[in-house]
Amino acid sequence: MTDALMPAAFLGHGSPLNALDQNGYTEAWRAFGASVPRPRAILAISAHWYINASAVTAMTNPKTIHDFYGFPDALFAVQYPAPGDPAVAAEVAELARPTWIGLDHDSWGIDHGTWSVLVHAFPDADIPVLQLSINAEKSFDYHFELGAKLAPLRARGILILGSGNVVHNLGRVDWDQPEGGFDWARRFDEAAKGCMTSAPADVMTLQDHADFHDAVPTSEHFIPLLYLAGLADAAGSTADVLTDGYAYGALSMTAYTLGAAGISEAPANAVAAPLPSPEVVPTDDTNA
Ligand code: ZN
Repeated sequence: MTDALMPAAFLGHGSPLNALDQNGYTEAWRAFGASVPRPRAILAISAHWYINASAVTAMTNPKTIHDFYGFPDALFAVQYPAPGDPAVAAEVAELARPTWIGLDHDSWGIDHGTWSVLVHAFPDADIPVLQLSINAEKSFDYHFELGAKLAPLRARGILILGSGNVVHNLGRVDWDQPEGGFDWARRFDEAAKGCMTSAPADVMTLQDHADFHDAVPTSEHFIPLLYLAGLADAAGSTADVLTDGYAYGALSMTAYTLGAAGISEAPANAVAAPLPSPEVVPTDDTNA
């Protein structure tokens, strides 16, 4: 049955510079994109659209948003000119009912959480891309359940893509270990792996993990994982690890797929692009 469903994924995006780099992670993202049937559209849940509202982008031509500072000009020059798809946006809003999801016609677009991985996974930028905001006012339960409610989109050819990082603590970054992970980061990432690959609904118990507050000091990079967990649970399935590794002690780069097959092996523990300055997480510069 899963053969008829579009695969889904959670990709650990790490530094925005991964957009310009070629490494084991970006190769894994490319391999995932190459392995799936051509999607009708991509619905991305990015850590970087974390606002006090539930919204889905519904414009015809979403703009490429460079939501960071302190990075090279080449990164600001990146464009991902994929079209939008207002009809798919309406389907997303309809499926979520009675939860209300607003249609964003002119506020957001495609942020770097989305385009930094899509430039590798779908380099032609010819598949419509929509983003679903992460409503910062809602509980983890809400996000997990909304993920499950979106499951019918997979049968309609929509590829659902979470983009964040399971472990993401910029305050604890250690520049001396570009490929390392602190013990607390490793323990939490491994616990998440245990859940995702055996009983995805158990990701909800990670809130009680002893290392949760170190690994997830703020929620925005973790929540996209809950959407994939909800999708997996709705399918009665489990996720597969696409690639994994750590960056600067305090980030995990683990990526998961759901229902994907035939992905050529990508190296694990790959070296991620450098993180020259902290990312900016936009929280209040948009009103969707
Ligand atoms: Zn990020």
